[in-house]
Amino acid sequence: MTPSSSIAADPKRNRFFAIYLSSLAVLGLGLIWAGATLGWGGWAYGLGGFLLVAGAGGGISMLVTGGAGKVSCPRCGHASEVLHISQERVLECAGCGEWLEGAREMSVVPPDRVAEKPCFTCPLPEGQLRWVRQEGALLCPTCGARAERMKTIEGASAVGTAASLVSPVSVQRVTEVDVPVCPEHEDGIWLLVLPDGKKLAFRSIYYMRLFRQLNGV
Ligand SMILES: [Zn+2]
Ligand SMILES: [Zn+2]
Repeated sequence: MTPSSSIAADPKRNRFFAIYLSSLAVLGLGLIWAGATLGWGGWAYGLGGFLLVAGAGGGISMLVTGGAGKVSCPRCGHASEVLHISQERVLECAGCGEWLEGAREMSVVPPDRVAEKPCFTCPLPEGQLRWVRQEGALLCPTCGARAERMKTIEGASAVGTAASLVSPVSVQRVTEVDVPVCPEHEDGIWLLVLPDGKKLAFRSIYYMRLFRQLNGV
């Protein structure tokens, strides 16, 4: 049994989200009303509709997925804040660096886990990337077999369109890196462009740890 701990709901943050999201919806309704009766025009409908959908949609998703909660790391006790407590997630404990997985119950990720999608992240190292090799040959970052070739992957911004509406500055330059792949696993690594920097995401937690050691990140 790997150590695990349960998530406690966070009523304070849930109240905050409830107020915030319903204010968005009310503001949206107000704008639509003004657009209709005061002749504010199309922009009021557009923005009002956007706010209404954002507020109501966010509220419904919080209700469906259980809202906000807190989980204490089973290793070090550090409390991490999570959203959508009934949904499966992985997270890296900010206290001790351990990886946790689960939904309402979170436990330490087994050291040989290979996830469905790249989710074990580390900072993108500066400069030349060093990949794991055996007798000189590159290995597949997902299964450990020989990698046949390098593949160029492009950075994806997880923040997406919502943020670029708010801040036009976030229109990022495209970033690319070359990663080793085997014929079976073309999708073992993602490059993520996040507000706190660029990250590589791996499917294999074992490979990710080797990569960090090798690159000193
Ligand atoms: Zn911890
Ligand atoms: Zn492979």
